[in-house]
Amino acid sequence: MFSEVKTTCPYCGVGCGVLAQVDEEGGVAISGDPDHPSNFGRLCSKGAALGDTLSMEGRLLYPEVEGNTQSWDTALNTVAYRFQEIIKEHGADSVAFYVSGQLLTEDYYVANKLMKGFIGSANIDTNSRLCMSSVVAAQKKAFGSDTVPCSYEDLERAKLIILAGSNAAWCHPVLFQRIKKAKQDNPDMVVVVIDPRRTATCDIADIHLPIKLGTDHILFNGLFVYLKNANEKNELFVNNCTEGLDAALRIAESYASSVETVAELCDLNVAAVEDFYRLFSRTERVVTAYSQGINQWSYGTDRVNSIINCHLYTGRIGRAGMGPFSFTGQPNAMGGREVGGLSNQLASHMALENELHRNLVKEFWHAPLIAEKEGLKAVELFDAIDSGKIKAVWIMATNPAVTLPDNKKVKRALDKCDFVVVSDCMRNTDTTRYANILLPAQTWGERDGTVTNSERRITRQRAFLSSPGEAKADWWIISEVAKRLGYAEQFSYTEPADIFKEYAQLSGYKNNAERDFDISGLQNLSYTDYDELKPMQWPITKENPNGTSRLFGDGVFYTKSKKAQFIAVKNHKPALDTSNEFPLRLNTGRIRDQWHTMTRTGKSERLSGHIYEPYVEIHPVDAKQSSLQDNELAEVSNSLAEIICRVKISDSQQQGSIFIPMHWNDQFANLASVDSLIQSIVDPYSGQPEYKATPIKIKPYRAQWYGFLLSRRKLNLVNASYWACSRGQGLWRYEIAGDQIPKDWAECARNLLCQHSEKVEWTEYHDVAENRYRAARIENNRLESCIFIGPDFTLPERDWLLNLFKDNKLASKDRISILSGKPPGEVKDSGRIVCACFTVGLNTLTDAIKSKKLITAEQVGQLLRAGTNCGSCVPEISEIIKKTL
Ligand code: SF4
Repeated sequence: MFSEVKTTCPYCGVGCGVLAQVDEEGGVAISGDPDHPSNFGRLCSKGAALGDTLSMEGRLLYPEVEGNTQSWDTALNTVAYRFQEIIKEHGADSVAFYVSGQLLTEDYYVANKLMKGFIGSANIDTNSRLCMSSVVAAQKKAFGSDTVPCSYEDLERAKLIILAGSNAAWCHPVLFQRIKKAKQDNPDMVVVVIDPRRTATCDIADIHLPIKLGTDHILFNGLFVYLKNANEKNELFVNNCTEGLDAALRIAESYASSVETVAELCDLNVAAVEDFYRLFSRTERVVTAYSQGINQWSYGTDRVNSIINCHLYTGRIGRAGMGPFSFTGQPNAMGGREVGGLSNQLASHMALENELHRNLVKEFWHAPLIAEKEGLKAVELFDAIDSGKIKAVWIMATNPAVTLPDNKKVKRALDKCDFVVVSDCMRNTDTTRYANILLPAQTWGERDGTVTNSERRITRQRAFLSSPGEAKADWWIISEVAKRLGYAEQFSYTEPADIFKEYAQLSGYKNNAERDFDISGLQNLSYTDYDELKPMQWPITKENPNGTSRLFGDGVFYTKSKKAQFIAVKNHKPALDTSNEFPLRLNTGRIRDQWHTMTRTGKSERLSGHIYEPYVEIHPVDAKQSSLQDNELAEVSNSLAEIICRVKISDSQQQGSIFIPMHWNDQFANLASVDSLIQSIVDPYSGQPEYKATPIKIKPYRAQWYGFLLSRRKLNLVNASYWACSRGQGLWRYEIAGDQIPKDWAECARNLLCQHSEKVEWTEYHDVAENRYRAARIENNRLESCIFIGPDFTLPERDWLLNLFKDNKLASKDRISILSGKPPGEVKDSGRIVCACFTVGLNTLTDAIKSKKLITAEQVGQLLRAGTNCGSCVPEISEIIKKTL
């Protein structure tokens, strides 16, 4: 017997439906929900591994005040008292909330209501500021509202899909799978990928435009001009439904007047640009999907508007199979935008700068106050903490000490802030260490509420586990503080459904079809209706009770004139120039199997097996110029910080720029937090930071020794100058290096690995002259730990040794081979995991490709099952086939 609960994946903005089957022993089996219209049963590697991440390890279970466990009452009273005191002395703008796209809509709504309507400040901002606020700003400029016009089904109905600044194969894998399948079903469909890197997404690209970093707006403005010259203007739509064309075109023509000019400025082949322009020009059904590669720039808003302009000019918006389509990063980034989680918005897509809207929200909430002006955006907010203007901050479900630009400054600010409250499900993050008060929050599987995905689809997240310890829902925590601040009546919710209904009612309150966000069709839901709510796309009104798949089909927009606006996009370049000292540009982004700061995905062995260490990807020519070898360590630095990562030389990286993933932080590596290198430079409209083009330098990190360490126990590595740790099955894996050779390796290794253990079987090998040391600790005939040290980074493969930890008993043939690091006899090491679902390693794949002469990923799948579940690794398998053959 088991119970089955329909819920939603907590990771990316695709918002896949998930089935959680809980058995009588509490075991949880995860699968994709075949009925969910966003994924139809598909899940990517991260979603499929959700069951691996439900352990209690590392959870924050009880409230803490100044490091001591306290009752909820004490903790909540302290939060309310300190906020009240600080507000009394320094005013409402001396406090702030920093929230997250991980929150559910109900949590978000209550946090926003408390700050804007009752504290009376707009100092609430969200980590979504970092990933998609440029889209919000651009859509508001062009449409008068933050409206994503498209649906996922438009990806299947399009004839041309442009993926700009989006590695969908890794970052929105189920959408990538949907596009791939649509392309298989419709051989006429063309996919163009615009990305400086040759990413896994290029696996389905008919055309890859390896554009010069930061020049996408030139390419799209060039397209705008090309469309004009090709007479592709949709006269009816442009004349009746838009404004501002001439000014926008004039500016575009001033620097992107011809295909040749564009190709030169974007470092692209003239013929390739022309092909792309011709394709766009002659294809009616075009979707331009874009993501952080477009948004995360100091001119991100303009970059988005350059895309929207082309769709407006051709009238390709609001109809099936076409439109500009932002893929959101987080599971509820869209929900946060709807409730006004950004400091420059009011709830339900109302505008802070609009007096009518302010009065309306105040009246609806029965609020004593309403924020009169914009609050501080994420980067400004932490600057204000640093300068002492903000004296109390409450951080919910996010890790700004890792993810904000110049995160050393963020840590400094939090360290000196008078009062820091952190609500989180994890006890130890880079941010929780600065908290005066820690509040244990429920996490995925325990929480109940709704999220909205990239296609405006609201889906229920449902609980299927009981809350551990004293963890509580975020909406409950916020409401309890609000009650203690004197607002019991306005925050007397007993269920998330109460909040949702209020929020639905507000969306329709005096709306009169003047605001895009309207879910008033859901305002009278009963508790049972809410429990059973099916995924639905807003607007959801009396007239459209089942939701709306696309908007703007009627050519009416939410600007004053009801017309869409062309936006003149000036030429821009990255905020900082490279120099002799910092000659390369740093680009950052996600990897396939990790999510954000790894607090959840870092628990999964199979997700940690794909890429287990922070790395820097660099073009062979740049590597040569910097004297870097593949697989060695490199130091990447600028005036703000330095980090250390493993070198991966690849011609998929463009010359002149390097790529480093965003995920690693102090919990998983001692010197790999890439956002410590990012300057706090933001887009003037959206406040989104420029994460994609930071000037840096790179050089080899030449340590005195290198090594790795595998241990069943988590370790504290004080003697390593560099370490990065990851999960393996039954063990922790550490890659290490050091600046100083210990006087006695044996003593050092024993101190580290043999603590608390009396009956230790210790086997070791030491070549003093060569500085090679290897040791293994065996207990009750089980491998407990091993360490391999050498003078350089060429050390034995780890995968066979990793497998030894899966067993509770060492085979004698394996025992004698441990210190060689190689499997005995003919046994082969399976290599680094490529397919996380079926744990198929690189060596297994290359051997099969060679011996069986496999030439397609499908053939590999038939033989080894690799790539046949979620499909996330298929592009990598294709790449391995290419390289192997
Ligand atoms: S694509 Fe993957 S990470 Fe994104 S929502 Fe779906 S299963 Fe989750």
